[in-house]
Amino acid sequence: MLSTMQDGNLSIGTLLRHGTKVHGTAEVITWTGEGSRSSTFAEVGRQAARLANALRGLGVTGDERVATFMWNNAEHQVAYLAVPAMGAVLHTLNLRLFPEQLTYIANHAEDHVVIVDATVAPLLARQLPTFTTVKHVIVANGPAEALTAPEGVQVHSWDALLAEQSDEFDWPDVDERTAAAMCYTSGTTGNPKGVVYSHRSIWLHSMQVCMADGIGLASTDRSLVIVPQFHAMSWGMPYAAFMSGASLIMPDRFLQPEPLVRMVTELGATHSAAVPTIWQAVLAHLDQNPADLSSLREVVVGGSSCPPALMHAFAEKYGVHIVHAWGMTETSPLGTVCRPPAGLTEEEAWKYRYTQGRLPASVQARLIDDDGNEMPWDGESVGELEVRGPWIAASYYRLEEDGEGAEKFRDGWLRTGDVGTLTPDGFLTLTDRSKDIIKSGGEWISSVDLENAVMGHPAVAEAAVIGIPDQKWDERPLVAVVLRPGAEAAPEELRDFLGDKVAKWQLPENWTFVEEVPKTSVGKFDKKVLRAAHAEGRLD
Ligand code: ADP
Repeated sequence: MLSTMQDGNLSIGTLLRHGTKVHGTAEVITWTGEGSRSSTFAEVGRQAARLANALRGLGVTGDERVATFMWNNAEHQVAYLAVPAMGAVLHTLNLRLFPEQLTYIANHAEDHVVIVDATVAPLLARQLPTFTTVKHVIVANGPAEALTAPEGVQVHSWDALLAEQSDEFDWPDVDERTAAAMCYTSGTTGNPKGVVYSHRSIWLHSMQVCMADGIGLASTDRSLVIVPQFHAMSWGMPYAAFMSGASLIMPDRFLQPEPLVRMVTELGATHSAAVPTIWQAVLAHLDQNPADLSSLREVVVGGSSCPPALMHAFAEKYGVHIVHAWGMTETSPLGTVCRPPAGLTEEEAWKYRYTQGRLPASVQARLIDDDGNEMPWDGESVGELEVRGPWIAASYYRLEEDGEGAEKFRDGWLRTGDVGTLTPDGFLTLTDRSKDIIKSGGEWISSVDLENAVMGHPAVAEAAVIGIPDQKWDERPLVAVVLRPGAEAAPEELRDFLGDKVAKWQLPENWTFVEEVPKTSVGKFDKKVLRAAHAEGRLD
């Protein structure tokens, strides 16, 4: 029997219409370096119509790909809405990828148009001759002359192009199962892999971002979105804002601690989201330049394990709650969000806060051991996490042709490559990424546990742990430590500090002090680079 309910496409077009009309006075605020500029959602909606008309004029029809090469700003938000709502596919290019990766991605996705921020136009100019399908580039936030393009590529000014257009567009009723946006994940082996989100997956995911036990984004929020729009769709914040009416504060290229703190204090951010390394840097800055962060109701941290010391420092010194979350590009990205259950003592609640969080209704999970057996949810049995659900990738883009990445999918489940435990009530604790776990004497050492423990030492700003070959034990941990400015700590002292925190046989004997831990294009510890540095004798 069919239901008697109406049907309706869960499309980006409906989000655009809703945000523009019902939350027309909410704002997208972009930091300019000196201060900020602001557009209302209603203005963003009109700009989106102008951009859609312009793209039609440039020959974008059907599901052609329109790429962005941009920071987080109002124009990027306009593209986020206009491109999928007109039925085309938004492809966010990561500004920080290696040139060969960018070339591969743009050609693999067959990008037709690129919208670029003038400040990064020189970066794009170097790449453009290798992009085989791009016909047009639109330069935003600066003069079109910022870009030199090869023959066959037409360059347009965003301002001039949009000025000629109508601010109305006949948005089509797009099928919710069609592609809306795509994002490539860096991948550790082979080429980057394309994840293609549907209108429906983005819609459902946006609802999760707005749910109280999700990120809880609401019309009363002003969210400082630090996580880049090219990194897993800014964790869904731009679309959830148009669903909820939350205002967005976009940092553009000003991602250093000093401007970020100013964005909180001067623009009254109530909420923010970024990877741990950003918050580590903000914390170090605040220690020298204290500021009042009381407008922040909470901050979401994910992308890598959040060190407990970081959570405590923000809570105890600045009254800011860090909410730990886990996800991947392949999971849209919200997988789990940590909201401790009610009725706990403060101490018990903290133990929960360290975990990666609880599964929502739309994300099913299982833990699989090395032999393919399903492990119980008892908070102790360790296995690889596999997930499935309506906003989880079922395959990679053009996987059949490329034949790469098939190993990530098994019987309709996504194999995350993350290893950990689940409690009976669905809280996930990740021990490590499977490729980072250290195998020592037949036992596993969690690199993340060691890092978190070392980062609890007051002299330590950052610590990254990798496994290095060892004749006797197979592998042993090597700790790369960044000390706080002016602080000192010898390896023996750090080892003693770990004495009551990790098992004795796990205590690292290999320590090295570095100025900086190398970071990936999305700000995570780059252990591939650390391992290579060690193999080449550049890290003792
Ligand atoms: P990349 O693989 O380039 O880092 P993603 O952002 O998609 O791109 O990374 C997803 C991975 O990040 C997850 O598989 C997991 O290993 C890690 N991750 C994300 N959130 C957390 C977290 N809260 N704790 C530990 N690891 C995390």
